[in-house]
Amino acid sequence: MIKKAIFGGTFDPIHIGHIHIAYEALYRLKLDRIVFMPTGNPPHKLKKDITDALLRYNMVKDAIKSESKFTVSDYEINRPNLSYTYNTLEYFNNLEKHTQWYFLTGMDCLMDIQNWNKVEDIFKLCQFIVFNRPNFPAFTMESIRKQKKKIEDRYSTEVIYLDAPLLDISSTNIRNSIREGRRVDYLLPENVSDIIEKFGLYK
Ligand code: ATP
Repeated sequence: MIKKAIFGGTFDPIHIGHIHIAYEALYRLKLDRIVFMPTGNPPHKLKKDITDALLRYNMVKDAIKSESKFTVSDYEINRPNLSYTYNTLEYFNNLEKHTQWYFLTGMDCLMDIQNWNKVEDIFKLCQFIVFNRPNFPAFTMESIRKQKKKIEDRYSTEVIYLDAPLLDISSTNIRNSIREGRRVDYLLPENVSDIIEKFGLYK
């Protein structure tokens, strides 16, 4: 069976921390594909200062060019409102019935998952691969183990913990650094720096 993981995020902008963890998941778990899934534009009312979805999508597309097992999907950016993870997973499960779907995400999501829409159904549609986030001191190994077990028992699933080294980089820090006129090009895939410069993003 083909094994594909959806890796969702705002990716505003995508950085080498994202690429690195995606590659670790691909390599260590012998996946066939990682599907990067940039979120759509938030509805008007919620509109925070997020870069337009098409630009974020194009940055991801350029960033993953050199790895043939990385792809990007425009599914969520083409929907009028923010998508629920459940809907995205349902769509891809129906589209590719013989693919084993995974959902790659930081531990922060797993801690919060009971509040998600249709959480029980989510675990019927995919298996979670979670990794720790640097700079989240609340997530001790003990709290991660507890939450993992709780989710596994409650939803009859197996959560895969990806014990990979992490790069302490966030899109927020990158945006702030650009605003302050600092260099960030070495934290970004090469093509992404060019797009940021061309469109004058995050100034
Ligand atoms: P922001 O700072 O804008 O909140 P972010 O850097 O956390 O952004 P997102 O686009 O929100 O990035 O994250 C997409 C996914 O990538 C999430 O699952 C998040 O946990 C993960 N992620 C973010 N930064 C890293 C990193 N340095 N290493 C590994 N995974 C990361």
